[in-house]
Amino acid sequence: MSVSRRSFLKTSAAGVAALGLGVFDNPMLKKAFAGAVQETPVIWLAAGACSGCSVSLLNSLAPRIEEVLLDQVLPGKHTGFAFHPTVMAASGELAMEAMHAAEQRQFLLVVEGAVLTGFDGRCCEIGERQGHGVTSVEHLRRLAPKAKAIIAVGSCASYGGVPKANMNPSGAQGVAEFLKAEGIATPLINLPGCAVHPDWFVGTLAALLLGGPKAIEVDADGRPRMFYRKLIHDNCPLRGQFDQGRFAQKFGDEGCLYKLGCKGPVTRSNCPEKKWNGGVSWCIDNRHPCQGCTEPDYPYADSMWQPLPPKTVTPPAAYPPIFTDRRKPVDLTPGYAALAGIAGGVMGAKVLGKKKERTQDDERKD
Ligand code: SF4
Ligand code: SF4
Repeated sequence: MSVSRRSFLKTSAAGVAALGLGVFDNPMLKKAFAGAVQETPVIWLAAGACSGCSVSLLNSLAPRIEEVLLDQVLPGKHTGFAFHPTVMAASGELAMEAMHAAEQRQFLLVVEGAVLTGFDGRCCEIGERQGHGVTSVEHLRRLAPKAKAIIAVGSCASYGGVPKANMNPSGAQGVAEFLKAEGIATPLINLPGCAVHPDWFVGTLAALLLGGPKAIEVDADGRPRMFYRKLIHDNCPLRGQFDQGRFAQKFGDEGCLYKLGCKGPVTRSNCPEKKWNGGVSWCIDNRHPCQGCTEPDYPYADSMWQPLPPKTVTPPAAYPPIFTDRRKPVDLTPGYAALAGIAGGVMGAKVLGKKKERTQDDERKD
């Protein structure tokens, strides 16, 4: 039996479509797992993104990325990454077929990157239909209402992030803003971060598979409280230096990084405990201020390195003047000089008194 190139490619790509996502398409494996494992297809849509969140996900160590993609995330629960533009083996028409097949089932939608609404969405096209590019806005309008739940991964998908920064010519929006404007009420979980931490994504995916969106408690900004509850400032190893008023004045200095623009006092995430790159390090361990990448205001109107106004920082009881440069030599103003004069006078009187006492004593001896 001859096999045409197209049907060979189709069969191969179906098997590995989206990085082995098709392992469960194998009829024998399907039979073996039937009834035991529930598969949830995942469609990963990359909109106005740098792919940093995808790269971060590939760094997942426990579980490893191949376990997330190929094994059961939870006993009896398997995700099939039906479409992921960065890691899937299939491309072109075959890749789009994988997406369209997945959307016929109960699927989870993951959005990476901001929704680029400017120029009728033409800033970001994913695949083609009848020779014309399909915009990410069109994909989202079609997929979002049908999805079981949506995960917005990274700061850009959550709140607009860097693409939405000042000027914003591409009309970048966060997914929540877009869904609201379109009147789409599908449950949405925001996982902000530049990039998203792999554990935040895998933990959210597992919680969704286990109990659905209602199982995840979110804060006012749509973030799971299990990852974004604590203030970085309250768990920072440099907090003691902040409380003592010991601040770095320039990069490379010792001390708390507040004056170099650290947003730890207004940023919520578990970075100090979880750290990055498999728990090796994190921003402040590397002597760089926290840039507040998990907050809706990121990347901030002025500059990421602009210090926060002191009123946004909760001062300790004995709060040092944080804008005093403690390394400057003492300024001997007239006030200091007068004080020094008084102190000198007192000391002089004491010495003279002792001298006088000694003289009278000497006289008595005589
Ligand atoms: S301001 Fe930043 S560096 Fe300083 S204690 Fe707070 S979180 Fe740590
Ligand atoms: S420390 Fe701050 S800037 Fe760094 S990853 Fe965590 S939230 Fe983002």
